[in-house]
Amino acid sequence: MGVPPVRAASTPDARCGGVQLDPSASRVGARVGHPCHGPVVLRAGRPCHAVGCARQACYVFHVLAMWLGVMSLSTTGCSGPTAGAGLVSAGQWHTVGTSVLGEPIRAYVIAPGGRTDALIMGGCHGDEPKSVYVVQQLIAEISEGRAEPPPQGCVLLPVVNPDGYTIRRRRNAHGVDINRNFPTANWAPGRPRSRMFGGEAPQSEPETRAVMEVVQRFRPRRIVSVHSIDRQRQCNNYDGPAEDWAALLAAHNGYPVTGSIGYATPGSFGTWSGVEQGIPTVTLELPSHHSPQRCWYDNREALLAFLTGASPDTQQQCR
Ligand SMILES: [Zn+2]
Repeated sequence: MGVPPVRAASTPDARCGGVQLDPSASRVGARVGHPCHGPVVLRAGRPCHAVGCARQACYVFHVLAMWLGVMSLSTTGCSGPTAGAGLVSAGQWHTVGTSVLGEPIRAYVIAPGGRTDALIMGGCHGDEPKSVYVVQQLIAEISEGRAEPPPQGCVLLPVVNPDGYTIRRRRNAHGVDINRNFPTANWAPGRPRSRMFGGEAPQSEPETRAVMEVVQRFRPRRIVSVHSIDRQRQCNNYDGPAEDWAALLAAHNGYPVTGSIGYATPGSFGTWSGVEQGIPTVTLELPSHHSPQRCWYDNREALLAFLTGASPDTQQQCR
């Protein structure tokens, strides 16, 4: 008797990044889209919950896998070699830090010749899951061969703040806004109970230090930090020498280019990396009133163009 197929545990679900299970996967060795952890390979063996996810879609996935008699789930590429059975993959997953609650902070790294020219990250604010979804889709697009890997390399970091993301809270488990905790000249703590509390000291938080280490270790030449914003204020907000890069994104996503988000952001990542480190940095504010899928649809070409590093002039001439 044949093994019944794994069925989708849920429709695309923003809580888990919107990744559907692959209904064609049916047995040990099959690669399936895990709702929380991206591509996984089903293996026979002991139960494995090392990924430690408490979300319901993840739980349902594990129950389905066990029902099929497949007890172990190997998250493809989270350590060691990148490619699992049959997976097209251009890069490797690196653990680049650990959250307050001990969750790994992971980045997908493509480094041809040791180069990693672009960094794109999401999930700095845990209540902005669309930012995570878009970076996860970008990783899937490249790792599964639907888009060319960028020839000059990249680092893709989907969830800066995994503790906040798990419970859809802006701040980390210490109640600190990571995007106000970078060691800038204008850092200020703010009010401890506010949504934008900058912490007891600059870079006091492990998530902040993980991002700083990524920048210092991989030395990206341009950065997009993906967020989302309400009230139709979506924009390509640049810090440092990044106006041309913001314009490149705008040529594809249609959002306004702006050098100011309209309010003070002491201790922000953009100020640290763009203004003070001189690395062109764009804070891509997605429209929070759009679905994750719409955000990805509107930004796929923008982010792929940013990754390939085609000069904005060239891009505009081609349009
Ligand atoms: Zn944000």
